[in-house]
Amino acid sequence: MKIKALRGFKDWLPEDFSCYAHLIDKARQVLSLYGFKEVKLPILEKTELFVRSIGEVTDIVQKETYTFEDRNGELVTLRPEATAGMCRMFVEHGLFNRPKPLKLFTVGPMFRHERPQKGRLREFYQISVEFFGKLTPLMEAELIYLALQILNSPKKISPVLEVNSLGCADCRPAFREYLVKELSKVKSRLCEVCQQRLERNPLRILDCKKEGCKEVVKGLKPISEFWCEACRSHFSSLLKGLKELGVSYEQNPFLVRGLDYYQRTIFEIKVPGLGAQDTICAGGRYDGLVLELGGPPEINATGFAIGVERWALALFEEEKPAFLKPPFVFLALLGEKARLYGLKIAKSLREAGIPTEATYEEKSLKAQLKDANRLGVKLAIILGEDELEKGVATLRDMEKSMQEEVPLKELLEKVKSKCLS
Ligand code: ATP
Ligand code: MG
Repeated sequence: MKIKALRGFKDWLPEDFSCYAHLIDKARQVLSLYGFKEVKLPILEKTELFVRSIGEVTDIVQKETYTFEDRNGELVTLRPEATAGMCRMFVEHGLFNRPKPLKLFTVGPMFRHERPQKGRLREFYQISVEFFGKLTPLMEAELIYLALQILNSPKKISPVLEVNSLGCADCRPAFREYLVKELSKVKSRLCEVCQQRLERNPLRILDCKKEGCKEVVKGLKPISEFWCEACRSHFSSLLKGLKELGVSYEQNPFLVRGLDYYQRTIFEIKVPGLGAQDTICAGGRYDGLVLELGGPPEINATGFAIGVERWALALFEEEKPAFLKPPFVFLALLGEKARLYGLKIAKSLREAGIPTEATYEEKSLKAQLKDANRLGVKLAIILGEDELEKGVATLRDMEKSMQEEVPLKELLEKVKSKCLS
């Protein structure tokens, strides 16, 4: 019986892994320029953490989480995102006592039981970046720029940045009230899910992908008409900061985030042409979450998450370039004694940090050189029993098809020098 992977759970083959690892490395390099430190968070958390932070009435908590009782009967959830875990860690370890701002990031898998399709998996990787400390609009502008710098670091893409402000506790309730009032009048035109959202989470209706709902939303007043003075001036400073950084943006008054905890500045970065799943990075400010999880009230927080697989799709839609490096040396060994001696050569080359391949198979020289070619190595070391007796080996430059005899004693130094040249 053939057992297949679960739907939406993707194997990373070597060529996938090298590609994703390359992107993650690039992200790490850029993040370190901004003083971000990497942490590791648990993949499994108490369900309560996500219910408290993400909110009971979001799609994520209602429909998308992998939640189950563990063997002790405790309700646990595979993390659908990293922000809640990061805030839990921040509070649990008293990190708010450390000098601020505290800039942290984590890289790892997230789990959501969604309908798998292009760019939408049930297990996917995120680079999740979080900032705790005093958050001025200029700092927010810088963090948005950071996201763009990461996305552009492996290869220039043309991302489209959309920004909006969700207002604050002072002004958002009026907008919510307006939405409920207006949308109740046209309830029958909304999709089934949005009809349920109307009472519990009306802002999410603005984010519905269904055509009928999109039509209804078009006729609404934008949230910007409800912003209080503080939110208005905050947003205009943010835009000034973005302009100063040379960032072009689109103000999307209907942009909302799927998660309940966002307030004020939110943003998404899209790559047009990717299809329905074209958002590769999303983020925003979530000041209240630390407090909700038992931390001090004065902490501002913001963050963003990049979906690694979608980012890779945006960069290399057609074909992933080969990030896999070929080995440097291949040992073509002829005869039992040479094969045995080959073990020692391979060992010393690898100890010297030189990527080496050998198969120790009984095969003709021609077949072994063919293997070497297929691997794309620079050098082959050919060793037969006669050569071994003479204390020499043949070093073949596979690109130039030139070869020379080298005393075994000098072999390592010779290969090293070729490695450097
Ligand atoms: P969407 O609207 O596509 O469902 P979201 O609002 O649920 O996205 P976030 O929770 O903000 O997404 O996650 C941030 C990023 O993580 C997304 O922009 C995307 O790149 C990636 N992402 C989210 N869900 C998935 C998924 N199921 N498969 C692959 N990547 C995902
Ligand atoms: Mg989603």
